[in-house]
Amino acid sequence: MHRIIQAIAFAAEKHRRQRRKDRDASPYINHPIALANVLANEADVSDEVVLIAAILHDTIEDTETTFEELQAIFGSEVSSIVLEVTDDKRLPKQDRKRLQVEHAQNLSHAAKLVKLADKICNLRDISASPPADWSWERKREYYDWARSVVDGLRGAHSGLELLFDEAYERGP
Ligand code: NDP
Ligand code: ZN
Repeated sequence: MHRIIQAIAFAAEKHRRQRRKDRDASPYINHPIALANVLANEADVSDEVVLIAAILHDTIEDTETTFEELQAIFGSEVSSIVLEVTDDKRLPKQDRKRLQVEHAQNLSHAAKLVKLADKICNLRDISASPPADWSWERKREYYDWARSVVDGLRGAHSGLELLFDEAYERGP
């Protein structure tokens, strides 16, 4: 419990100047908290390591946080999961999108759970509070790409897969 709160405080500090892409520019931290909430309260995931990794999942990718920093504070298990779900930002966007699909099946079980929660939350966000300038086609494209990532994760957690499928079927 204390480590989860420590992770929330850490992520809040790291993301403090960032906003999501929706019209209201919601505080970024809402998103990692939403992942942890889906995992714990909708999918009954109680593994503290997974919940902490979910809270920290975008810190390396989107802030100046390093793997070594996470390792020193939260340990090797958590930091490795976060690294597994971190895109290589040196690559062009199309390559990053393709690599997410290709790598999905090779992720650790814990990383698959975080990835599933991330895709569930992003589909829900695109439906409820989408990036301000996205056309319907762009939303549809995102939904279908997320679906191909999730298809590589199937078998990891039936409850999370069902939540994803429900969001996907509802459409953007
Ligand atoms: P994304 O398409 O990857 O943007 C979505 C990401 O933004 C999410 O994965 C999420 O990532 C984050 N995000 C922040 N706020 C929100 C929100 N409110 N709702 C949902 N997601 C949110 O990135 P880019 O904008 O960089 O576009 C890349 C791709 O988009 C290109 O490869 C191109 O193919 C395609 N594209 C399509 C166009 C079209 O009209 N069809 C036009 C232009 C590009 P996280 O969880 O990591 O924060
Ligand atoms: Zn995310």
